[in-house]
Amino acid sequence: MNHLLLELANTRHTYRKMINLYWTTIVLTVLLEYWLHRVRFGAVPDYLPSTLVLQAIGLALATGVIEMLYRYRKVQSDNLLIVTGVVYASSIIYINPTIGIVPAIYIFPILTSMLSFNKNRILLAFSLVLLCFGTLYALTPELRTAMLPVHLIGVLFLYAGVTLIALSITSSGIELLNSLRQATEAKQELLVKNVIMDKLSKMDALTDLYNHKTFHEYLEKLIEQNERNHLALQLAIMDIDNFKKINDTYGHWVGDIILQRVAYLIRETVTPNDFVARYGGEEFAVIFTEKTVEQSHRLAELIRQQCASTVHAELDGQAATLSIGLQNYAKGEGKEALFKGADASLYAAKRTGKNKTVVQSVVIDHKGA
Ligand code: GH3
Ligand code: MG
Ligand code: MG
Repeated sequence: MNHLLLELANTRHTYRKMINLYWTTIVLTVLLEYWLHRVRFGAVPDYLPSTLVLQAIGLALATGVIEMLYRYRKVQSDNLLIVTGVVYASSIIYINPTIGIVPAIYIFPILTSMLSFNKNRILLAFSLVLLCFGTLYALTPELRTAMLPVHLIGVLFLYAGVTLIALSITSSGIELLNSLRQATEAKQELLVKNVIMDKLSKMDALTDLYNHKTFHEYLEKLIEQNERNHLALQLAIMDIDNFKKINDTYGHWVGDIILQRVAYLIRETVTPNDFVARYGGEEFAVIFTEKTVEQSHRLAELIRQQCASTVHAELDGQAATLSIGLQNYAKGEGKEALFKGADASLYAAKRTGKNKTVVQSVVIDHKGA
């Protein structure tokens, strides 16, 4: 049996219901037997009350064991249910051997064995029923007298028929559960694939930052927030200086390493309220939110300084520097104006010597700071 089926069989709620059914059966059995004897013999035989009490005590003890194990040990034993079911049926047959239909009661433990989706358990129940019926038949003369050969054959056919039906229902159940499991697995796989695809479409593979497209989507949403709820917003464009030279001198692969390191440094320096994207080749865009221009400027400067002081073995111990253009979003100006402002500041930073941060095209030169 596979794992899912095992889990299903173990966690089902029918076990509690089965125990309740067993308790109810004790009461019903005693009442029914009492009534049957009265109807059959016109009066209750002397031996009957004590026999019924003994039967009820015996069955209550067996069911009590199941109940205790379930309550205090969380044990759900189908074998125990089946064995107790066979004991119930055997005791009923033993006390009422002369009622022809009574041996049919053995079909109940066989049906109980279906609960665990386990064919071996059904066969076990069937064998147990045959064994107990055979023993009762051999040891109880009243039963032998009451049952004609045709009854005997009928009863055995009944046990075998119920067993076969139980086996085929279990087969269909297992098949059904297997296809359910396959469908669930396929659905899960698809879900995971979708999540991965979604992430891939949003992220830049080299730097693991958001990509150009996601950046614009996000910026539009934040501008909306600014217009509606006065969310403070600044845009910084950060461009690695002389990156072409790095590529040309040390190779494209070194350029890639520098891109990854700079991306990591930016992401680690900004706050969780900020949004970092790889805007283009060696350009990064950062949206600062819920900050004053001064605070954003301080963070941009921190990034620039850390970049300028991080030396790389791949660049023969030199650092790669960043030029940064920072623009505050003024309500109503729109995305394009914000970009133009940040670009103009970046251009000013490049034109006036690189490795610096320019805010709203006002050059703030912290070189050497
Ligand atoms: P400036 O200081 O003015 O920014 O000069 P720059 O050399 O950094 O700028 P330029 O625009 O001349 O060169 C950018 C280079 O970045 C050119 C391109 O080959 C390189 N580049 C773009 N994307 C990648 C990438 O993914 N990996 C690597 N290694 N290089 C890239
Ligand atoms: Mg550059
Ligand atoms: Mg560039």
